[in-house]
Amino acid sequence: MNCQKASELASRQYDQPLSLSKKISLKFHLLICKHCRNFNKNIEQLSHSMQSFLRGDDNKDQKTDTSDSDDSDSQLK
Ligand SMILES: [Zn+2]
Repeated sequence: MNCQKASELASRQYDQPLSLSKKISLKFHLLICKHCRNFNKNIEQLSHSMQSFLRGDDNKDQKTDTSDSDDSDSQLK
């Protein structure tokens, strides 16, 4: 397997499951190839954020707990 084929499989595995033999050859290529390992990691993260985006996770509504600042303030004294 070359890098082109590996990256192709890596990006396609989220659309459709790979056959076992393809999965194994991809895994093996990722073991020996740092570039494709990075690439695979990137699209994995991308696919995760895409999934949470499609699910409609409210990231912008994350509240920071302001009561923490009181604790750090008392530690300073
Ligand atoms: Zn490669």
